[in-house]
Amino acid sequence: MSFYQPAPHSHSLWERALLRIPGGVNSPVRAFRGVGGEPFFVNKASGCTITDVDGSECIDFVGTWGPAILGHAPQVVIDAVRETVPRGSSFGIPNPLEVEMAETICRMVPSIEKVRMTNSGTEAVMSAIRLARGYTGRERIVKFEGCYHGHVDSLLVKAGSGALTLGQPDSAGIPTSLAALTSTIPFNNLEALHSAFKEHGPQIAAVILEPVPANAGLYLPGPGFLEEVKTLCREHDALLIFDEVMTGFRLAPGGAQEVYGITPDLTTLGKIIGGGLPVGAFGGKAEIMDQLAPLGPVYQAGTLSGNPLALAAGLAQLREMERINGWQLLENLGTQFEESIRHAIKGKPLTFHRIGSMFCLYFCEGPVRNLDDAKRSDSAAFARYFHRALKQGLYFAPSQYEAGFLSTAHTPEALERASMIVSKILAEF
Ligand SMILES: *Cc1c(COP(=O)(O)O)cnc(C)c1O
Repeated sequence: MSFYQPAPHSHSLWERALLRIPGGVNSPVRAFRGVGGEPFFVNKASGCTITDVDGSECIDFVGTWGPAILGHAPQVVIDAVRETVPRGSSFGIPNPLEVEMAETICRMVPSIEKVRMTNSGTEAVMSAIRLARGYTGRERIVKFEGCYHGHVDSLLVKAGSGALTLGQPDSAGIPTSLAALTSTIPFNNLEALHSAFKEHGPQIAAVILEPVPANAGLYLPGPGFLEEVKTLCREHDALLIFDEVMTGFRLAPGGAQEVYGITPDLTTLGKIIGGGLPVGAFGGKAEIMDQLAPLGPVYQAGTLSGNPLALAAGLAQLREMERINGWQLLENLGTQFEESIRHAIKGKPLTFHRIGSMFCLYFCEGPVRNLDDAKRSDSAAFARYFHRALKQGLYFAPSQYEAGFLSTAHTPEALERASMIVSKILAEF
């Protein structure tokens, strides 16, 4: 197979990185292990394009894995950070932006009555799990195969994203006794869910899921699935946690829970609310959130939590999305992109999924409804497609098990150009 070859400056940085950073990267999927070859180094990113350190530009469909919903380096975010940083980058004392962010999140996501900020999605999920256990006095967690919830110990069991790309469904270093408290079942499988509750009902603290799983490619909840999850949780007094780190503020102002009309007990957020700076949040019913320290017995904290730069950037991004009604714009762009891709794959053993500004192309016949289906995708074919696209200036995520993202900065012209290139590549599949 012929790999995309990074130019000399990128290549020499990669050789230096390999010597001093494990695997050359600070997050595993970036190492291109899912597609072979070696990654390029980015010098700058703007709108829907990224430019590598050797000066080549490409159209980006990764959007820093979700946060860049307005595209890269949007002016409103640059201005907000510029205005905030001279007044200090961290205080460790309450600042007004924390109140504004909490009010904004509660307004946009009505199931959230109170919210606490963290520094990453992983931290948000880890804290939500602890809170669910503390609140219910129970220990068992139910999760779904292929759903990724960050690198939280008890949830790195049959996880998606990088854990899946590397063929390491479980991680070393996680105590067996802790993993034993996690039940893992296939997504979209109500029978398995009923069995889990039958077997462990009174021990289940929470069921956690990505309402639209986007870390094993992208597939959607079948009709009635989320409703039944919610009903079972209520019947058994287990909490329902929606991990909307990816879908929050992307699928709608109120995330997937708004799209599907389901109210979870707790929600985890991240990515978009930081405007590209490190951030996470978890929130939900006040009665549950009030179990957190200093009000309650569940400890959770963070030196940099509620960081003014991250909050200024995130608030600016959310305000701009509301001002331009970004969600409608993204739906229009998504429809345009979907139409041309569907045309390109007609009659081929390929499956394309899209919801709003998220999409995925599987190299297998449908239906793809869960992780087992997703794993039928031909990873060698995906790698060929990935490298050909990259050589022609399109950057898709370097793994079959990641979603693609559009931003409001993807112009109809850029999408048309991308669709033409994709069509030409897929003509050979
Ligand atoms: C990205 C992601 C996380 C982890 O967030 P980090 O900021 O990378 O720690 C958790 N859950 C979902 C659904 C995600 O997509």
